[in-house]
Amino acid sequence: MSKPLGDVVKADEGEVFDIELEENILRANQKIADENRDLLRKHGVTAIDIMGSIGAGKTSLIEKLVELLKNRYRIAAFKGDLTTTIDAEMIRRHGVEVVAINTGKECHLDANLIKKAVQRLDLNSLDLLLIENVGNLICPAEFPLGSEKRIVVVSVTEGPYMIVKHPFIFMDAQVVAINKVDLATAMGVELNKLKNDVAEVNPKTEVVFTNCRTGEGVQEVVEALGL
Ligand code: MG
Ligand code: ZN
Repeated sequence: MSKPLGDVVKADEGEVFDIELEENILRANQKIADENRDLLRKHGVTAIDIMGSIGAGKTSLIEKLVELLKNRYRIAAFKGDLTTTIDAEMIRRHGVEVVAINTGKECHLDANLIKKAVQRLDLNSLDLLLIENVGNLICPAEFPLGSEKRIVVVSVTEGPYMIVKHPFIFMDAQVVAINKVDLATAMGVELNKLKNDVAEVNPKTEVVFTNCRTGEGVQEVVEALGL
């Protein structure tokens, strides 16, 4: 007979890093996202989730969208950032209500934060909700918020491989704005190559070339979003 085993190492509940835990989180997020969408729809509010890297031009796009659309729609915006309210102030200058959402250390918005922010709004006096996600190309893709559509803003200054390197965020986007087109030549980036890269990942996505500083292409973004 062998000697009895000594103390067994036992995992406390919730102690093991577990892939199922992540799946549960994503499932819980999806459920709240669906509730958000139902609530917004019930009040006739269309939400758009704007994703992309830091510096891609998400805030500039929102500013231009607000200018183009504010006579047709009653607009509010959510602005997700770790700790700052810089972008939120910029958008507010265009005369729309903005709720700043600070995520602390989290690099994405989630449906629960949107649920909390929605409680700050009077949905009956609103038609369009523009949500600027945290600047990040990876996990915002995994956390639907309850928006009707998702748009990714890509800047040519991110280089020629940025779409092939981050395919997941494009799979669930209806529109992609390839921004700062005026800098494409200087960056050695071919615009049609980027467009083809998007089509390879998601052939249904509509690609628009923009310069959100001047407003070039923003009307096409409006049309691509069906607004
Ligand atoms: Mg921004
Ligand atoms: Zn994240």
